[in-house]
Amino acid sequence: MISINSIYINGAFTAPHGTATFDLISPIDNTLQGTLTLGDEEDVNRAVAAAKAAFQTFSKTTVEQRIGYLQKMYDAVSRRADELTNIMVQEYGGSIRFCRNSTQNALNSIRTNIEVLQQFSFTRHAGKAIVHLEPVGVAGIITPWNASNSFICAKLSTAIAAGCTAVIKPSELSGRQTQLLLECLHEAGLPNGVFNVVNGLGNVVGAAITAHKDIAKISFTGSTITGKTIARGAVDTMKRITLELGGKSPNILLEDADLETAIPMAIQAAYMNSGQACIAGTRLLVPASRIEEVKQLLKENMDIARVGNPAEEDTLIGPMVSQKQYERVQQYIQLGIEEGAELWIGGPGKPEHLEAGNFVKPTVFVNVTNDMRIAREEIFGPVLSVISYSDEDEAIAIANDTDYGLQAYVSSASDEHANRVATQIRAGRVLINGLKHDPMAPFGGFKQSGIGREYGAYGLEAYLEPKAILN
Ligand code: NAD
Repeated sequence: MISINSIYINGAFTAPHGTATFDLISPIDNTLQGTLTLGDEEDVNRAVAAAKAAFQTFSKTTVEQRIGYLQKMYDAVSRRADELTNIMVQEYGGSIRFCRNSTQNALNSIRTNIEVLQQFSFTRHAGKAIVHLEPVGVAGIITPWNASNSFICAKLSTAIAAGCTAVIKPSELSGRQTQLLLECLHEAGLPNGVFNVVNGLGNVVGAAITAHKDIAKISFTGSTITGKTIARGAVDTMKRITLELGGKSPNILLEDADLETAIPMAIQAAYMNSGQACIAGTRLLVPASRIEEVKQLLKENMDIARVGNPAEEDTLIGPMVSQKQYERVQQYIQLGIEEGAELWIGGPGKPEHLEAGNFVKPTVFVNVTNDMRIAREEIFGPVLSVISYSDEDEAIAIANDTDYGLQAYVSSASDEHANRVATQIRAGRVLINGLKHDPMAPFGGFKQSGIGREYGAYGLEAYLEPKAILN
């Protein structure tokens, strides 16, 4: 039985003041794997004090010094990349292919921050003023369970690039992954207090970070509802906030799209990370003239969406992270049926031979209308809604008729045509003819998908405060 009972403050593993524990349960078979001791408000106070003290000197480091620290971080994480991937498969239940990508994303984000620093100017001119971009202060970093270490590495490496120090609260569902990452970061030998990690519940540790007067900024990834709570709490001390929240991404197949490539891509987009992805393409928008072709091709290509043991190479969809998440997805599948959508593939219940874990059948609804709740709300599981449109204007209107605006996908035989449509979509990123990612490109949401941007120079600026000096 695994027992994790340390947090990380001021360069050392230390016992938390909090004594409550959280059961770590395998999503693959629901067996108890161990317990995580949870921190409390007192632990947050200690972590913030360490980060505040470290900020005094870390904020004055040179770009070259910070590049050196990021390189050490990169090397330490890279040395244990396979272990980080495997623990994510075991604890979270992500497919091995997804988890490998996630570890790679963690590394890429650190490397990208080194590249950004090599080009970035911390001094600018505006009119007669010289503008200095200064580190904002201690950053509070709060992350979800669906790519835990990747989010921590991306946010922490950006904070370090800016000269900020950090207090991190990972998801309580990611205790084992956090512990291994902490071992890597400890080995990296960053100055004491630059990063501090307090495990704990959102309404205890997360709330204490949100309220703390010595935290200047919060970078949060998670659900829109929690993001709103954090934004409300953060305003009391006027914290800067970056919120990366939910999505209900449209995937528009234009009339001229090559369906033989677009449909396998649509399945990958909808079911990536077992459907537990904020950027999942969960609304497939299809020209009415091609709907029968699309329905047929979805059935023919469904073998891509293999559900099973996440450690096996050909698995695309592992279990949902928790029983609670499994129940939530089941409720939405039931809701889709009750709302009158046509169940085309999958449906309620567990796939055969996978009854012990939180496995869901990859599900496709057709004849979905955009006013149905399954088309409006983030399900966070492998459920795809197919919506037909009559012409391109209607496709764009449906794509934009959502509270969210994180990512969108457009497929067309012509890149020029797809780009014309992309310019009319209200989303932080639009991917044309494929699943693409560039860690230099800004990432973040329009509307209720969030506030601010991460990655590249845009992400770095979110940790900086401009100061104009006028002579
Ligand atoms: P969540 O909002 O429940 O939790 C996220 C983090 O916030 C956890 O660490 C949690 O403990 C903490 N938290 C909970 N209540 C809090 C409070 N009152 N104050 C401060 N912190 C609190 O989200 P989740 O279930 O862990 O993750 C799934 C959600 O994350 C989905 O909605 C998904 O869309 C979103 N997400 C967004 C992105 C993105 O980049 N936009 C990426 C991944 C996931």
